[in-house]
Amino acid sequence: MRKTTFFESFLSNNREFVIAAFAVPASFVYGTFQNLGNWIYRTFRNTNTQHEEAVKAIQAQVREGYNSGKTMCTARKPWKTMSMRSADFKQDMHRVEINLRNVLEVDEKRRIVRAEPMVTMADITHFLVPRGFALAVQVEMDDLTLGGLCMGVGIETTSHREGFLSETIEALEVVTANGELVRATREENADLFHALPWSHGTLGFLVAVELRIMPIKSHVKLDYEPFHSLRDFCVRLEELTASPDAPTFIEGLMLSRDSGVILKGEFATLPRGATINRINNYYKPWFYSHAARSLETGAFSEYIPVRHYFHRHTPSVFFQLKDLIRFANTAWYRYLWAWMGAPKIALMKFTMTRELRFQTFEARVAQDVVVPIEFFADSVELSAELFDIYPLWVCPVRLFDHGENEGFLRNPANGAASQMYIDLGIYGLPKGVETGAYDQVKASRRLEKFVRDSDGYQMLYADICMTRDEFEQMLDHRLYRAMRRKHMAEKAFPDVYEKVIPERWIREHIDELKDEVTA
Ligand SMILES: Cc1cc2nc3c(=O)[nH]c(=O)nc-3n(C[C@H](O)[C@H](O)[C@H](O)COP(=O)(O)OP(=O)(O)OC[C@H]3O[C@@H](n4cnc5c(N)ncnc54)[C@H](O)[C@@H]3O)c2cc1C
Repeated sequence: MRKTTFFESFLSNNREFVIAAFAVPASFVYGTFQNLGNWIYRTFRNTNTQHEEAVKAIQAQVREGYNSGKTMCTARKPWKTMSMRSADFKQDMHRVEINLRNVLEVDEKRRIVRAEPMVTMADITHFLVPRGFALAVQVEMDDLTLGGLCMGVGIETTSHREGFLSETIEALEVVTANGELVRATREENADLFHALPWSHGTLGFLVAVELRIMPIKSHVKLDYEPFHSLRDFCVRLEELTASPDAPTFIEGLMLSRDSGVILKGEFATLPRGATINRINNYYKPWFYSHAARSLETGAFSEYIPVRHYFHRHTPSVFFQLKDLIRFANTAWYRYLWAWMGAPKIALMKFTMTRELRFQTFEARVAQDVVVPIEFFADSVELSAELFDIYPLWVCPVRLFDHGENEGFLRNPANGAASQMYIDLGIYGLPKGVETGAYDQVKASRRLEKFVRDSDGYQMLYADICMTRDEFEQMLDHRLYRAMRRKHMAEKAFPDVYEKVIPERWIREHIDELKDEVTA
């Protein structure tokens, strides 16, 4: 690896201080300007006419790229995405500017919102919540985009009923390799419609999406149920998810190998005398640490304002901020500093040196693995053995049968209409890192093997250590390949594996993955 400069070493060695002193205020300023920019953009843009013009400009850029013979990608700066890797392959590609940031229309009768791909989760809740709606799968983190979630994956606490966010898509409008604008729904271009989720922009560029929305109420009544044994936790999770009257929201947090909390929620209006918790107020303890209290106090219930609920893990960046700024959940930090919000992942990636990226790759885990519910306890046990990180995020998700249009995810076993899976989110610093006993590649590959052996899936935003064969064993590529041929994507876009594996220079440093790089 090349020699690091003094500045790079300073950034790497004083990361916690740099994040608190610089990244947090910088994120606040960046976020303020971003919001202002978005407001100006929306106020002065005549949405529907300008959308059509912008799409025509994208089609022209794509035709130019197609004729140049180069592979294409979006021009979004790699540091702006939430995924771990920095897509340095982009510099050699034909980059297509997709500056589409508007909500185009809401059809309250049909319960559909039509929006552009750069609309973020924060934008969509700001737009929909005052109108009394939310996405049917209202994903958590403020900065995630509709484009990333539809072309990648999106999951939330309504997924036990609705499935992944992709199941709530009614239509996708895509510019394919030769610049054609194609509309894909369950009836029209159904094959393409089912091949697009998880394809990561390797079949075409998304320019608009229609998504199902749900009516909401002002609050969510949340019940916190503590468990002191993994077995009891699993039994309750199975019981809740299998019930025909399953709660609207189900989420779990494993707080140790044998203890956890199940949170079940329903939309509610406030009854008199209700306990209200405005959980995202900056001085409040983080949501997961608040939930963990139930292990000592016993079960409790409270009312959370709906927008606070939808973004309850944003202030703590799920469970990642505690590892970046170890004192960020202390009262003094929250009262003095947390009003500026959490550091933006984008800005942290922007200041990330190669050395730091490599350290992150080797020592930090951010994985979501989705396995059939019967393998959930095994996934917790394996995570304990490999990483010993808590909390773990537990989110049930229903996978549906897509008949002949079986995409990357296989149809449920035994011909069932749907099958329950559990997403286990493992984020943080593995215990073995401190003692030097931790080997990221070995641990990741064991987790990945477990996922394949249990007919599960690894989310592709994470650092993936699979070989191409293993990757294709996990995700069924048949429909995807047919769509690559049909829509002339083979030469125009990289293939999904090439797009989601860690940077080439990282793989060149990992013995087990070297062959794959030179292959
Ligand atoms: C801290 C953290 C928290 C997270 N929390 C959640 C969570 O709560 N729920 C959840 O489901 N996921 C979560 N994720 C994972 C997240 O789902 C993925 O990163 C996802 O792909 C969206 O991220 P993004 O908006 O940054 O998209 P990007 O990374 O920008 O996009 C994902 C892929 O889609 C492609 N793409 C984007 N826009 C277009 C377009 N217009 N046309 C064609 N292709 C396009 C990109 O090229 C890329 O390959 C989290 C990730 C992190 C790091």
